[in-house]
Amino acid sequence: MSASWLNELVQLLPSGAVVTDADVLEGYARDHARLVPAGVALALVRARSVEQVIETVRFANERRIPVVTRGAGTGLSGGANALDGCIQLSVADMRRMLSVDPVGRTATVEPGVLNGELAAEAMTHGLFYAPDPASREISSIGGNIATNAGGACCLKYGVTGDHVLALKVVLADGTLIRVGSLAQKNVAGLDLKRLLIGSEGALGVIVEATLRLLPKPRPASTLVAYFKSLQSAGAAIEEMQRALDLSLVEIMDRTTLSAVERHAHLELDTTAAAMVLVQSDASDAEAQVERCQVICEKHAAYDAMRTSDAEEGRLLLRARSMAYPALERLGATLLDDVAVPRSHLAEMLVRCEAIGNQHELTIGTFGHAGDGNLHPTIVFDAQDPQSEARAFAAFNHILRDALTLGGTITGEHGIGALKLAQLEPMIGSAERELMTRIKHAFDPRGILNPGRGL
Ligand SMILES: Cc1cc2nc3c(=O)[nH]c(=O)nc-3n(C[C@H](O)[C@H](O)[C@H](O)COP(=O)(O)OP(=O)(O)OC[C@H]3O[C@@H](n4cnc5c(N)ncnc54)[C@H](O)[C@@H]3O)c2cc1C
Repeated sequence: MSASWLNELVQLLPSGAVVTDADVLEGYARDHARLVPAGVALALVRARSVEQVIETVRFANERRIPVVTRGAGTGLSGGANALDGCIQLSVADMRRMLSVDPVGRTATVEPGVLNGELAAEAMTHGLFYAPDPASREISSIGGNIATNAGGACCLKYGVTGDHVLALKVVLADGTLIRVGSLAQKNVAGLDLKRLLIGSEGALGVIVEATLRLLPKPRPASTLVAYFKSLQSAGAAIEEMQRALDLSLVEIMDRTTLSAVERHAHLELDTTAAAMVLVQSDASDAEAQVERCQVICEKHAAYDAMRTSDAEEGRLLLRARSMAYPALERLGATLLDDVAVPRSHLAEMLVRCEAIGNQHELTIGTFGHAGDGNLHPTIVFDAQDPQSEARAFAAFNHILRDALTLGGTITGEHGIGALKLAQLEPMIGSAERELMTRIKHAFDPRGILNPGRGL
C-alpha cells in the first residue's frame, strides 16, 4: 500500500471524500454478480462534482493507479468490482437532476440519478423515460449508459443508448469532453457518443447525460397465456411479433414459474412448460392483444387472461418481476444473459432445458422473449465444488449454444469481468485488437477499469 499517495489524495479532495475504512471498502467491493472475484481497493472516492472526478482521475493517471468507476453497483457482470490496489470512484452521490426541457423533451442529469427517479420526474412533466431495466429503482443512469441497459419495454422503445442525446465524459488524463448533440439529428464526425455507450467504465467516466424523453404512452392492454411446450410458446411469440404492434413480450419457463409460485403463492400453473406475457400500448391496444390471444390459442395456449385495466395488467406482470429473486431463493445462482435472433428463441429455450439436464442442474429461464434475450439462471450448491464446476460448465455451454444460433454472449448485462474470456471467440481476434487500440487511444496508460468490458 502506498501511504504517500493516499495522503496526497486526501489533501487533494474535500474532507470525507476519500474513504479507506476496510469495512466501507468491502461494502463497495462487489456488484450483484456474487460469484465474480473482487480485489481490494486502496481507497474509495465519493465524488460529488465533475471537478472531483477530474482531480481523481488525473491524479490516478499520473501515478498509473487503476480506477474502477461505480454507479449504484447493481451490475450483473462484476464490472464495478474492486481491483487490487485501485481507487474505486463512486459517482453515486452525483445525483442532481440538472434540468428538464418539456418542449425539447430532454432531461439533463448527473450520473448517480437513479433510473426510477428520472422516470418519476419525467412523469411530473407528462413525459416518459422509456428504458426500463428491472433494476430501475436501484440502478443509476450513469451505470445504465455504461452498460447500455435494456428492459422489458425496450422491445418497442429501444435500449438505453437509443435515448442518449449527449454526454459529458472525463477521460483518463482528466480531460472533460462533450459528445453527441442536443439536435435531434447529428452526423458530425465519428460517433464517439455511441462508442462510450456500453463501454463499461473502460473509456471514460460519464459525469453528465442529456436524455430523450417521450410523450407518455397510451394505457397498455395485457395478455398472459400458458403453453404446454416451449416450442409452441416460441412459435406463438414469433407469429405475434410478425404481425402486431407490441410493447412487451416476456417469458418464464416451468422452473421459473415453480420458483415464483413457491415464493409468492400467485396460483400460477406450475405444470405449464412456459408462461408468455404480452402487452401492447398501440392506439388499438385492446384489438392487438385480442389478436395475440387468437395466435396463442392457435399454438395451443390455454388459460389465457386478457385485460385493459392498468392495475390488473400490473398484477398479471407481477410474477415476471419476481423471477430472479425467486430463483435466488433456491440456492446459489449464476445468472446468464444471452440473446439470439428471434427466429431461434424456441430453439434456445429448448437448449437451456437440455443443458440443465445434461449437467444435472436446475436452470430457470426467463427473459425478454420479444428481443430474443434470455436469462437462463443456473441454480447450484455453492458448498459443493463439483456442483459449482458443473454450474460454470453449463454457463459456458449456454454461451456457446447462443453463438451457434447466431446470437450474442450478452444482450444487456455486459462483459464486465464475467465474460471476458468469451469475448474474443465471439467477435474475432482482429475486432478485439481494434477494440484494444481504441481503448489505448482513450486511455493510453490503461488505468480505467483495466481487464474489464473489452
Ligand atoms: C434485480 C436486478 C435486475 C436487473 N435487471 C436488469 C435489466 O432488466 N436490464 C439490464 O440491462 N440490466 C439489469 N440489471 C443489471 C444492472 O442493474 C444494470 O447493468 C445497470 O445498468 C447497472 O447500473 P449501476 O448504476 O448499478 O452500475 P454499476 O453496477 O455500478 O456499474 C456497471 C458498469 O458501469 C460502469 N459505470 C457505472 N457508472 C459509470 C459512469 N458514471 N461512467 C462510466 N462507467 C460507469 C462500471 O464501471 C461498471 O463497469 C439488473 C440487476 C439487478 C440486481
